[in-house]
Amino acid sequence: MAMVMAAIFIIDSATSYEVAASVFYTVVILTAARILSRRALMVLAGICVTITLLSFSITTQGDYRAGLINMTISVIAILITAYLVLKMEAARAAAHDAQARLLRIARVKSLEGLTTSIAHELNQPLAAIVTSGNACQRWLAQDPANLDKARQALERILADANRASDIIARVRSLTKGEPSQRVAFAFNDAAQEIIALSQQEMARASIVLTVDLSPDLPLALADRVQVQQVMGNLILNAIEASVAVPVSRRAIRITSARQDAMIVFSVCDAGVGLAAGVHEHLFEAFWTTKAQGIGVGLSISRAIIEANGGDICAQSNENGGALFRFSLPTTDKEQA
Ligand code: ADP
Repeated sequence: MAMVMAAIFIIDSATSYEVAASVFYTVVILTAARILSRRALMVLAGICVTITLLSFSITTQGDYRAGLINMTISVIAILITAYLVLKMEAARAAAHDAQARLLRIARVKSLEGLTTSIAHELNQPLAAIVTSGNACQRWLAQDPANLDKARQALERILADANRASDIIARVRSLTKGEPSQRVAFAFNDAAQEIIALSQQEMARASIVLTVDLSPDLPLALADRVQVQQVMGNLILNAIEASVAVPVSRRAIRITSARQDAMIVFSVCDAGVGLAAGVHEHLFEAFWTTKAQGIGVGLSISRAIIEANGGDICAQSNENGGALFRFSLPTTDKEQA
């Protein structure tokens, strides 16, 4: 760079005033911008201006007026180039900073999302374990102890603990990027297991439950545990929407049916319903209308159903409540 500058200086000084070689210092500044710091670049621009003035003062041949104009243009060009280069570098640094910040936010957000979803999914079996544990204690405290009921409560605890560990295993496989484990399974049996888990909660809230599972379904082809998570989410949401309306209106209807080569599962409630304009937000992560809500249940549900080759949707129904429905692929085999 110093050699190029020296060459420009010599040409500018040795040639007549009309040859404005010093304008080429702008090329030096543009090239140096990639390697020099802000301060060094300003010093370089200062040096370029100084030696432009110096070579003007030692030039002897040509038209002095033309030389003065050329020298002024060169100095202005050098200063403008330096200014623009400095501005450009500042903008590039700001963009780089913003990008680094965004990356950090994205990383924290995805970690947050994962933690929240694990907490959300585990909450249901853990709450059920506590309920069954309390019941078990009560049956044992009776005089004489009701061992039969206590054993049933213990069986429920074991089933829920297994479900919790299945969920953890599934979350771990999700984070490792493993695909859903699609197997053929009896859809209604999986649904009945989840319905049984929520029955106590519904009875406590005086919700009238109707279950209408089609007896002639083919086997579903999906990840059984994940599908049960979705069923649990939809039923829990229906319960929460129902408790917000008067007891006389509380009713939930759960159905399964065959539709072409798919199984369709639906949960229909007569609860608070879906206000106009909420449809497009329902399946968004962290969108919730509940004071204690997290807003991840439906977004996880959609991700699961789509990963298993199905579809999920929501609609309002005539009694003012909401209807959530999902479909799943099946095998050709008939259910035993
Ligand atoms: P959360 O239950 O934590 O709010 P979800 O993703 O499960 O998260 O639900 C998001 C939102 O969708 C809820 O806050 C609620 O406004 C709406 N929603 C879900 N299910 C129903 C339902 N059955 N009836 C009315 N609104 C519902």
